[in-house]
Amino acid sequence: MVEKRVCVIGAGPAGLAAAREGARLGLTVDLFERSEIGKHIRCGEGFYDSMHLVSMPQAGVCYKVDEALLKVKKEYRVDCREINLWMIDRAEWQKNLAEQARAAGARIFEYTRVTPHDLHNLESKYDWVIDASGIPSITSVRYGFRDYYRRNGAVTVQYVLEGDFSEQGRRLKFLPFPYYQGYFWIFPKSSAIANVGFGYFDPDGEERNLPGRLMWNWLDQLMAREKVTGKVLRKNGGIVPIRMRERLQYGKLLLVGDAAGCASPLHGGGIDAALITGRQAVRWIAGIEGLRNRDFSGEIWRILYPKLEIESRVCQIWKELDQEAVDVAAALIAMNYKEIGFRKWIRYSPWLARNFRIGMRLRRGLTTGRWTN
Ligand SMILES: Cc1cc2nc3c(=O)[nH]c(=O)nc-3n(C[C@H](O)[C@H](O)[C@H](O)COP(=O)(O)OP(=O)(O)OC[C@H]3O[C@@H](n4cnc5c(N)ncnc54)[C@H](O)[C@@H]3O)c2cc1C
Repeated sequence: MVEKRVCVIGAGPAGLAAAREGARLGLTVDLFERSEIGKHIRCGEGFYDSMHLVSMPQAGVCYKVDEALLKVKKEYRVDCREINLWMIDRAEWQKNLAEQARAAGARIFEYTRVTPHDLHNLESKYDWVIDASGIPSITSVRYGFRDYYRRNGAVTVQYVLEGDFSEQGRRLKFLPFPYYQGYFWIFPKSSAIANVGFGYFDPDGEERNLPGRLMWNWLDQLMAREKVTGKVLRKNGGIVPIRMRERLQYGKLLLVGDAAGCASPLHGGGIDAALITGRQAVRWIAGIEGLRNRDFSGEIWRILYPKLEIESRVCQIWKELDQEAVDVAAALIAMNYKEIGFRKWIRYSPWLARNFRIGMRLRRGLTTGRWTN
């Protein structure tokens, strides 16, 4: 193989996956991280392998999630045993990924910030530059689309709380809002620590322009309603980009992970898409067999489109649903059919018939990772 020099910007999941895979493929990889690996992470730390394309996390696993709680009007238990979902300690997991990348031969430089001005030098020094800098990406600053992420992102706030979460146990809890506004989450890492937050997920909705102060007030109110208490260890949150950019290549620059805007439009999970796109970028550079597109953007779209398409359609359906209808949908997801009751079966049967196919496709995607028709 002809030697190829690759620069990776950012040591989040996308950058680390690119560095590890690139080094394993024999590329010369240098990764630059502005901070320290595993620091300043903003995440609920639910690791959902939605496409069955990434392996189980090899470090930092808190537990495998076998059951989730879905609460709208009533609370439903969702069996997740068939779903590849883990609760992780992301800092520990990312440190391990970095060790694997280093062991494979990648060089990682921490506390080395890349600025948009550095890009020019990097492009002349390296054959390819992978931008895994999250949001706003370095590329977006240089090419003037920095605002894209805000306009096409979910807005979130989250506390890392110390408290008593033993009653919830090893279960993730989701409380979806009506009209696809988003959801409130309680993700315990242990009986004493949990990530608790909420996000507005409709990029076209008005709520997303709420001042940050009001978002935090709402989170406090949601917590009071659900009787969630504890000591705040950290406050974080921010934008999660949930509409993938059409263009992912700017000359020698390739966008991956959040920089590409590829977190899930339905729930905002972006770890798996970051891993997949980071890995795929170096495979594409190495020109390994099995890649169907000569165009990088086309290659990433080919892989992620079936899932993103179904998730976006489900969001459209959700936009029509009031609280009672979201409750019916939650009961269906939990396969708790008796809770729906005769009156609601009658009332919602036309809606159910209209959306039956997409519901089945969603169910198959969520459980088997197969999103194509
Ligand atoms: C509140 C919240 C909760 C979330 N919960 C979940 C969840 O439970 N599950 C899930 O799957 N996803 C979740 N997400 C989304 C997930 O965190 C992201 O999709 C994921 O981190 C994207 O990975 P990435 O590698 O693309 O970017 P990032 O993780 O953002 O990594 C980017 C890296 O680049 C570095 N960097 C940035 N600028 C520079 C620069 N100039 N020079 C050098 N380095 C730079 C940063 O320091 C960082 O290390 C959540 C997001 C938020 C905001």
